[in-house]
Amino acid sequence: MVGPLPRIRFPASFPPMPDKPSRPVVHIEYPDWVDSVVDWNRAYVSDEDRMRLAIDVARENVLRGTGGPFGAAVFEAESGRAVSVGMNSVVRLNNCALHGEMVAFMMAQQRVRSFTLNAPGLPEHHLYTSCEPCAMCLGATLWSGVRRVVYGAAREDASLLNFEEGPVFPESYAYLEARGIQIERNLLRDDARAVLELYRARSGKIYNG
Ligand code: ZN
Repeated sequence: MVGPLPRIRFPASFPPMPDKPSRPVVHIEYPDWVDSVVDWNRAYVSDEDRMRLAIDVARENVLRGTGGPFGAAVFEAESGRAVSVGMNSVVRLNNCALHGEMVAFMMAQQRVRSFTLNAPGLPEHHLYTSCEPCAMCLGATLWSGVRRVVYGAAREDASLLNFEEGPVFPESYAYLEARGIQIERNLLRDDARAVLELYRARSGKIYNG
């Protein structure tokens, strides 16, 4: 038996907040270094080229002090065009949802003006991410419309830094694969892991551990 919920007592007056309570606005934008890392006009042809971009984004995020050691990128599968990148922006933008993969999905969907990257008439899209997705990002992968996910470092590598991946199970991957989403593991794992090590060496903030 579950008892009634405890009543929450609010204090008589709240400390002031900058926004009206009924009008919060969520604003998500890239840090200003992004164009120095991404070439929006070239074709990223191979899997390695594409993963290198995701890892470069992760490394730059650490070096510039704009977030955690995780980067991602969404590509048109056929042309190799980078549609978006994503860098972990949780601390920078005070938003727990802004993992690298989530930022990449949101920005890609803004660019193609569709809530799914699998809409009729769109080319096939693939996600490359420097580290194995957490529970949130793996869930969002299903809704994002990408048809393939390639990741670099493994969850064990992230958990060495006390980053937590949440409830991701072998069944989670099987679920995605059963819906036609391909998963490729541990591409350029050592390079991706080196960015995690760099973050640790710089005593970066662990924001969900
Ligand atoms: Zn995530």
